[in-house]
Parts: sequence; C-alpha cells; structure tokens
Amino acid sequence: MPDPIVIVGAGQAGVALAAKLRALGYADRLILIGDETVPPYQRPPLSKKYVSGELDVERLLIRPRDWYAEQNVELRLDQRVTSIAPAAHELTLSDGARLRYGKLALTTGARPRNLPAEIGGALPGVVTIRGLADADAIMPLLKPGMRLVVVGGGYIGLEAAAVTASKGMQVTVIEAAERILQRVAAAETSAFFRDLHQRHGVTIREATGLDRLVDRDGRVAAVTLRDGTSLSADLVIVGIGVLPNDQLARDAGLLVENGITVDAQGRSSDPDIFSAGDCANFPWQGQRTRLESVQNAIEQAEHAAAAMLGGTEHYNPVPWFWSDQYDVKLQIAGLNRGYDQVVTRPGKRPGSQSVWYYRQGALIAVDAMNDALAYAFGKKALESGKSIAPEKATDPAVDLKTAIEYNLALATSRKA
Ligand code: FAD
Repeated sequence: MPDPIVIVGAGQAGVALAAKLRALGYADRLILIGDETVPPYQRPPLSKKYVSGELDVERLLIRPRDWYAEQNVELRLDQRVTSIAPAAHELTLSDGARLRYGKLALTTGARPRNLPAEIGGALPGVVTIRGLADADAIMPLLKPGMRLVVVGGGYIGLEAAAVTASKGMQVTVIEAAERILQRVAAAETSAFFRDLHQRHGVTIREATGLDRLVDRDGRVAAVTLRDGTSLSADLVIVGIGVLPNDQLARDAGLLVENGITVDAQGRSSDPDIFSAGDCANFPWQGQRTRLESVQNAIEQAEHAAAAMLGGTEHYNPVPWFWSDQYDVKLQIAGLNRGYDQVVTRPGKRPGSQSVWYYRQGALIAVDAMNDALAYAFGKKALESGKSIAPEKATDPAVDLKTAIEYNLALATSRKA
C-alpha cells in the first residue's frame, strides 16, 4: 500500500482538492484533516444569511455529511497538524500521533487580523468572523437598538454592517483609509456602497483612526477615535483583513512569503507538498498573488490535485467574487490590480451600476452592482482574452454583447 495523500485543512480548498483527486481516478488512501468540529462548510454566508438567521448549518456544508464515506475520504475533524517533517514524509497531529504521507496538500486558509491587545483588542465583546464558531457566538448578542461598531470597511465589515443595520442595530463603520473598500475597489464603487449604507442608517466614518477600545466591567463599552471622539459600543466587529496560515509550512522549511510560495501548479518548494486557497501565494500575470475567494480556493485546489497526479496545466484564472449587502448583489469579475482608468455604466434596473477597470486600455475587471449582464459580459470578455472599450462600456446605449472585442494588450498580459 503506498503512503496516502494527506490534505491539511478541511475547508473550501481541501474539499475541492479531495473531490478532484477522486474525479481524476486517484483510488488510494486519502486523508483530509481539519481542526474544526463541523464537516467542511462555506464561509461566505457567515457574514450574510447565516448570521442573520436565514440559513442553518446543514445548508452551509460544502458536501453532504455522507459524501466523505462514499468517496472513501477519511475525514478527521477536530485534529490539528502541528508539524511536518518533509524529509521523513511525516506529520504530527495535536494528539501526538504521527502520520506518513506520500504527497501532502496544505489548504490551511487564513485567520483574521486582530486589533492589538494593548489597545483593548482582546476584550470580551470584540469579535471577528472567520468560522462558524465565531458566527454562532455573535448571533445571540445581536439585539435591535444595540450599538455596534464595525472596525474596517472591507467586504466582510460592510456585510456585517448590512446584516446588523437591517436588524435594527445602530451601526457605525470606522475606516482608517480615506474611503471604505479602498484596498479592493475604485472610488466609484466605494461611493456606491457608502451611499447604500447611509440610506440604511449606518454611520460611515472614513479616514478615521482608532485609538483604543474602552473596558467597562471587563467588557468593551466604547471605542475612542484618534480625533478624540468616543463612541459607545455594545459590540465591536473587527474586519481588518486576514493573514495566511503559513506557519506550519514555514516551520517545515518551505519557502513562505505572504503565504506558502507555490508554482503555477500549486507545488511548493518541496516537490511532494502542494498548497491552494487563501494560504497559497502563486505566480499570476507576472506577479506573486494571493487571492482570498471561493473561486480561487476551488480552482487552484483542482489544479493542485491534477498536478499531484502528474498533470501539467497551469493555473491562470479569471478571478470572480461576490458580496451581498441589503438588496444589492455585487459581482466582481477579474482583478483590478494596477488599474489606470475607471468608467461607470448605469444598469437597466434603478440603482444598478457597473464599474469597469482598465490597465493600458485593456479591461481587467468589472464590479457589477445588481447588474448581472454587466458581470456576465465583462467576465466573458476576460475569459476569452478580449476587452470592451471604455467608451463603449460607459455608454448605456451600446449593447455589451456586441462590444466585446479582441485586445492585444490584454491577451499578452494574460499570457504572462
Ligand atoms: P478555509 O475555508 O479557511 O479552510 C481552511 C481550514 O484549514 C480551516 O478549517 C482551518 O481551521 C483549517 N486549518 C488551518 N490550519 C490547520 C492545521 N494546522 N491543522 C488542521 N486544520 C487546519 N469569498 C468569496 O469568494 N465570496 C464571498 O462573498 C466571501 N465572503 C466571505 C465571508 C466571510 C465571513 C469569510 C470569513 C470569508 C469569505 N470569503 C468569501 C472568503 C472565502 O470564504 C475564502 O476565500 C475560502 O474559504 C478559502 O478557502 P480555504 O480552503 O483556502 O480556507
């Protein structure tokens, strides 16, 4: 019997990798290890329909509970891998047990950045949302009328603000940068969501530094800002980004830099160790890239699975992402990294809009707010290495379907 393929991290990427190995005909022993107690589940609803009480746990599961036995995947939950010895092809589990592997995949995801404990970041009542346990702990605390401060105006923070404001809480979002979504979107998209939240009664405070979290009776009671303002807070949700879970790989001597360094097939600096998902840093369009999305977790894991079985195809995605806030569905196609031009296009539905990003004249991404057509045609153009000229994208009289055209610059940069 050969040593098994072992996957460390039973999340979106881990399950996709296991499923792809089986789909490609890998029939030997396959072990999926995760340190959470529930079978692998989808995280996006945690800050959307799950935390608002509209979905139960079973609906979050990536695969039904009996799928693992059916596929002969040994799912080991509530177990943490504490070290890897690449030369011995062996890993150690939190209970001290050792396990040999033939090939190993690290799909360990990411963890939220926390506010420093020195400024009150560890006080009870200061929470982050990464896992089911976090959402389950937050839900009973949410009461109409309570005062909630969200630190960080990124997608997770804004989704949490939308859910809680819709439940009648008094919500303030504090953003240290000049504008919400600054790291991930153009000013036009920020303005759309600022306006949306303000219409729902959320206070948005941009370019606002946090000073500290104030303790009363051993629990957070207020937030003070650098300009001296104090905001009462019954609960503080922190959404200031994530850090890749790459320590295990670093300790094992693998190359790590902002995530586990892998090649275009998901192979790490050790030829028998692969990685995919939030924890992996891969080459794409000439730059080192780490994406935090369901699309990336699944597709990168599938490429890694194929490579583990000898496949040679490179991972060259058209990234996509979504966010739900109130009645707005944001769909993003592409990645706007390095954009130098932005145009907007009104959608057909009232209030719908899309924001188109260009680099050197070539379309690189679209943010579509309640505009499925803009998303679909933007994605289609990107997938086929084509573009939609900015003057056409911005003109609502132009049919996007007929506006997709070949763009040499885009085709060249996507091949890089
Ligand atoms: P994960 O799903 O985090 O899985 C990694 C697993 O490995 C975890 O269970 C972790 O506990 C486990 N693990 C780590 N170390 C060890 C160890 N040493 N031993 C054993 N187990 C270990 N993406 C979108 O595309 N759209 C969205 O709208 C969206 N919304 C989101 C909302 C929230 C609240 C969150 C938290 C994320 C959201 N994302 C969204 C991001 C998306 O969920 C992640 O990109 C995706 O889950 C990444 O999958 P992964 O498998 O890499 O990591």
